[in-house]
Amino acid sequence: MSVIYDKVALIGLGLIASSMCHAIKRAGVAREITGFARSAETRETARELDLCTVFDSAAEAVEGADLVVLCVPIGAMGAVMQDIAPALKPGATVSDVGSVKRAVFDAVIPQLPKGVHFIGGHPMAGTEHSGPRSGFAELFDNRWCLIVPPENVDEAALTRLTDFWAGLGSNINMMEVDHHDLVCAVVSHAPHLIAYTMVGVADDLHRVTDTEVIKYSAAGFRDFTRIAASDPTMWRDVFLTNKEATLEILGRFTEELFALQRAIRMGDGDHLFDYFTRTRAIRRGIIDAGQDTAAPDFGRAPVKKD
Ligand code: NAP
Repeated sequence: MSVIYDKVALIGLGLIASSMCHAIKRAGVAREITGFARSAETRETARELDLCTVFDSAAEAVEGADLVVLCVPIGAMGAVMQDIAPALKPGATVSDVGSVKRAVFDAVIPQLPKGVHFIGGHPMAGTEHSGPRSGFAELFDNRWCLIVPPENVDEAALTRLTDFWAGLGSNINMMEVDHHDLVCAVVSHAPHLIAYTMVGVADDLHRVTDTEVIKYSAAGFRDFTRIAASDPTMWRDVFLTNKEATLEILGRFTEELFALQRAIRMGDGDHLFDYFTRTRAIRRGIIDAGQDTAAPDFGRAPVKKD
C-alpha cells in the first residue's frame, strides 16, 4: 500500500485511535503519526507502547498534519476542535470516528478554519475495552467504515479519506448525516440500551442468585453482558446526542415487546413462530454478509477447565 497522508494526527488515544496506529503502520498509509490524549497517564502509556509521537497539547499534535482524526467521546469534539482550529494546516482534512454524526457536524463545522476540509467518519468496529492498550491492527478488517461527507464536499479530500480507511482494512460506504444516525440507532444504539437494561434487570432479580446468573450466562445473558460492559462515557454521549433517532426506535421496540408479551399471554404460538422465523432470517443475512460467524456459540473457543 502506498502513502496516502504524510502526517496523520490522532486526538484521543483510546481503543479506536490505538487500533488506527497499529493499522496505519501495518498498511504504510502514513509517513508519520502524532497524537494527544487528555490525561498525562494515557499519553505516557501511548509513549511506552510507541503508538505514535505523543505531544502534550492537541494543537502541537496537529501542526503540519494532512489528516486530523478526532477520536474522543462525542461530547468532547467541540472543545477539542476549539483547541486545534488555529493550528490546522491549510488544505488539511479533519475527520472523526464518533458514533453519532449530526452532533459532531454541529460541534465541528462552525469552527473549521477557511481552507480546511471536514468529512465525518465512523468505523463500525469496536470491543467492550477502552484505552491505549486495547487497540489492535485487525480491528477494522472487513468491518464497515461509514463516510459521512458534508454538503459541497471536496472530492479529492473525500477520495483520499476513503482510500485511507480502505487501507486500514475497512469496507467503505457513504451515508448522509441524519440517515447515518438513524441506521446506527437501529443497529447499535437501541441494542446497547436494551442490553444495558437486560443486565440491569438481571441484577435486580433476587429470585435468581448472582452465582446462577453468572454460571448459566452462556444461555443468552452473556452476550448482553459483553455489550453492557461498553464504555460508560462513550455511551452516555451517544444517547445524549442521538436522542431523536434512539427514542424513535425504542418506541417501536416497546410496541413490538408489548405485542410479543400479548402473544405469550394469549398462547398465540403462530405469532411467536412467525416472528422468530423472521428474526432468524435476519441473523442468516448477517452471516451471509460476512459480519459474523455461523459457528456454534458464535465461534467462541470452549472454556477449558483446569
Ligand atoms: P476510549 O478508549 O475511551 O478513548 C477515548 C480517548 O479520548 C482517550 O484517550 C481519552 O483520554 C481521550 N479524551 C477524552 N476526552 C478528551 C478531551 N476532552 N480531550 C482530549 N482527549 C480526550 O474511547 P474509544 O472507544 O476509542 O472511542 C472514541 C470515539 O470512537 C468515540 O467518539 C466513540 O463514539 C467512537 N467509536 C467507538 C467505538 C467503540 O466500540 N469503542 C466504535 C466506533 C466508534 P484519557 O484516556 O486521557 O481520558
